[in-house]
Amino acid sequence: MSSVATRLAHAGDGQPEKALRDFNSVPEVQPVYMTSVFAFDDVASVDDIYEGRSGGYVYSRMRHPNTDSVSLSLAAADGAEDALVFSSGMAAIILSIISVVKAGDHIVSSPVLYGGVRDYLENELKRFGVEVTFTDLYDISNLEKAIRPNTRLVYTETISNPLMEVFDIPELAKTAHDHGALFFIDNTFASPIVANPIKYGADLVLYSATKYLGGHSDLVGGAAVGSKELIAGVRKKLTLYGATLGAAESWLLSRSLRTLDLRVTKQSQNALAIARFLEASPVVERVYYPGLESGRDHAVAAKLFNKGLFGGMLSADIKGGEAEATKVVNNLGFIKYVPSLAGTSTSVSYPAKTSQRGFSAEELKKAGISIAQLRFSAGIEDIDDILPQLEDALKTIR
Ligand code: PLP
Repeated sequence: MSSVATRLAHAGDGQPEKALRDFNSVPEVQPVYMTSVFAFDDVASVDDIYEGRSGGYVYSRMRHPNTDSVSLSLAAADGAEDALVFSSGMAAIILSIISVVKAGDHIVSSPVLYGGVRDYLENELKRFGVEVTFTDLYDISNLEKAIRPNTRLVYTETISNPLMEVFDIPELAKTAHDHGALFFIDNTFASPIVANPIKYGADLVLYSATKYLGGHSDLVGGAAVGSKELIAGVRKKLTLYGATLGAAESWLLSRSLRTLDLRVTKQSQNALAIARFLEASPVVERVYYPGLESGRDHAVAAKLFNKGLFGGMLSADIKGGEAEATKVVNNLGFIKYVPSLAGTSTSVSYPAKTSQRGFSAEELKKAGISIAQLRFSAGIEDIDDILPQLEDALKTIR
């Protein structure tokens, strides 16, 4: 290797990685595998991996050590056989759906969903010959009525965005299965700390990992968790469509998962305190939080959720209209207007202007989302510092 260019092009050549196999030291945490591809000494080694005769990595769009590591944690968190991570929550949801439906199939879904997913189900799937019926899943007879012989999938969210509805998950799963359909559920708002829908019969549990799983507002990602068989089908679509989570984001997600329980427990405690505070305010019309005994979802949530926790998300209708809601948002002190959720800081969002922005006025009304509805994401701050921010903001419209 006489030339500097050649010497630099081959510097290292994976030697430290190979040497690690013979050392008695291993990294305490997994390194970030910033490599798009893996190198081999012979043709047979790659053949063996493709044919399943040996384990190993080939090309990072398919999988890499960081996606595999974080997938193991996610499967363990939900008590599932297998898991996959994606470049976003939308990718996780869409590719999971694509893996089980074909033209001519039918889906039944609850109407109140994250706006992007609602848009996909309502407008995009139609282009591929898949029909979707939206129906209120509080009443199981609605699901019975909506299911057809070609219904392949029932879809909902564990805690709906933004109305915080909680349906009877075991009953939905059973009804779907009795009719030969699959049951997928978006567990983003609950997180595996609050709910594990696999144990109630969900076939796939989906996540925007951008939210609680990541938890620090510093990554965009998604996850699907379920049986080995279903995940194998989703993996084919993930590889084909190329929505793999990158090494750096996978590593960040692994790190975040170690504190998921601590964060979601505190966020749930803070959310309950905020919900009680808002419920007592004369300028708040209605509070949506499954932890409030007054809510219609409380009994079922208390039965299904873990550790007496109800999650860190809540919504509230401010008395008046857009002007009053806007004034509250603009005066919330350290509670910033953040059109996402689940970070360590308490934040507020305005569904009609962000996550449900695509809804027409009529659709918003039909879905029960008021123009004065605000959605709060409880952070991990001291509750005695959070409540005065809210109090001051609400005073501005009194
Ligand atoms: N599901 C829910 C409940 C969400 O709130 C969101 C985003 O806000 C998504 C899915 C989509 O996830 P992502 O933004 O990571 O694609």
